[in-house]
Amino acid sequence: MKNTLVILIVLFITYGCKEKKDAEVVKKELPRIAIAGLAIESSTFSPALTHEDAFHAKEGADVFSYYPFLSPDSLNRKRAKWLPTLNGHALPGGIVTREAYESLVTKTLDMLKKNMPYDGLFFDIHGAMSVVGLDDPEGDFIIRIREVIGYETVISTSMDLHGNVSKRLAQHTDLITCYRLAPHEDALESKKRTVDNLLDRLESGKGKPKYKAWIPVPILLPGEMTSTRIEPGKSLYAKVAPATMQKGIVDAGIWIGYAWADEPRNHAVVMVTGDDKNKVTITAEYLANSFWDVRSEFEFVAPTTTFKESIEKAISSEKHPFIISDMGDNPTAGGAGDVTWTLTEILARPEFKTKNGPSLIYASIPGPDFVQKAIEIGIGGKIEATAGADIDNRFASPIKLSGTIEAIEYGDKHAEIEVVVKVGSVQVIVTKKRKPYHKEIDFTRLGLTPRKADIVVVKIGYLVPELYDMRADWVMALTPGGVDQDLNRLGYKRINRPMYPLDKEMKKPNLDAQLIPLSNTTSIME
Ligand SMILES: [Zn+2]
Repeated sequence: MKNTLVILIVLFITYGCKEKKDAEVVKKELPRIAIAGLAIESSTFSPALTHEDAFHAKEGADVFSYYPFLSPDSLNRKRAKWLPTLNGHALPGGIVTREAYESLVTKTLDMLKKNMPYDGLFFDIHGAMSVVGLDDPEGDFIIRIREVIGYETVISTSMDLHGNVSKRLAQHTDLITCYRLAPHEDALESKKRTVDNLLDRLESGKGKPKYKAWIPVPILLPGEMTSTRIEPGKSLYAKVAPATMQKGIVDAGIWIGYAWADEPRNHAVVMVTGDDKNKVTITAEYLANSFWDVRSEFEFVAPTTTFKESIEKAISSEKHPFIISDMGDNPTAGGAGDVTWTLTEILARPEFKTKNGPSLIYASIPGPDFVQKAIEIGIGGKIEATAGADIDNRFASPIKLSGTIEAIEYGDKHAEIEVVVKVGSVQVIVTKKRKPYHKEIDFTRLGLTPRKADIVVVKIGYLVPELYDMRADWVMALTPGGVDQDLNRLGYKRINRPMYPLDKEMKKPNLDAQLIPLSNTTSIME
């Protein structure tokens, strides 16, 4: 009897432990998470076209290089079986060709098919892609992904706050977030939050948040008026993080939207996700009303005026370097980047005709033929050739630059080859392909010393941190181009109206939260 009891106990322990072990093995099975996404903001008010190579698409394991928080030794890398497909990030530009879009989407879908099924998908997009003949490309993309991977996978979407959230994008994603700072100093933190939220929901077994509140806010403003470095953007966006700390809320976001495309989805949006219906709804309405209440307080982040006034102010100023944002053709907002209008105005002025004039650095103008000729002549030689206005020649013709070649640099990812040519007292950067000049090293590696220059003119909107820290004074010039900051000049035909501030006297819109059906249902869960 005693022996039987011992045997029974041993059997129980052995069997019981085995069961426990099995349970542990099941628990430790890592979630399978795919990664995909395309990021670009593309202006439909620019004659430029964006082709597939502009996305510099990375495939498979190369995709991890975009995300330091998924490096091989990172905690997050070990929390899932990651299955990256294709991610492409393009500089802002003109509308994406249909061929480029279809090719990138098809490649992504084919790669997704190889490793199904998925517990999760990290969908990394900007949200302001325009494609020839297709509305709401990100909405189209996520639907086509759903058709492949199904409707149970938890999709967590990361966006730029200058992206657009259509209702169908809101429906087909489960988790969604966007940056909370402009300039986007929190881009990586924001993408990491997208992944953290996804992992938390999968590991806890909670899955898709039960509620998604979506509120279209009929406001359309340029990014240059909505920096979070100054009010009212600063206080408005400061409300987002505390809102997400409430129990029952997973995440919240305020999207400014993208002003240089003409579709019904181009407007601001507030979205909140979570499991507490009441809190999700109230929080979304609180953020939407907070935005609406400060709508008239948004102003350009720096003094903004015509180019003529800007350059006159810079010449007479005692503060150097005096930086002028050449905003209309800003390649980081979607301008073609080769508008010659501003440079033509500068070189026509008598002040800059001789070497002894005020020193001015102009960044930049693409001119592949000019660059080729400069290579043939070499550093120190004299050159006379034209550059620019190959794509956007609506405002000025290709510009003839006659001067001395001071530098030729090879190997930049975007520009490929860069040439500095001195014309009078102006140092002009001519590139083989367009490139934004955002960092001090972009200048110093060409032998330029922007801190010592009297004037620096850059194709940019608000100054990104390094240039902002460098400036002694700064104005933003309302120059012409594909991303003209004077929205009244753009001539919208398809955005929803009324829209603030285009329709300044509009009545208060309905800012009630709209609950969006979950991605695996067609109706609202009650
Ligand atoms: Zn942005």
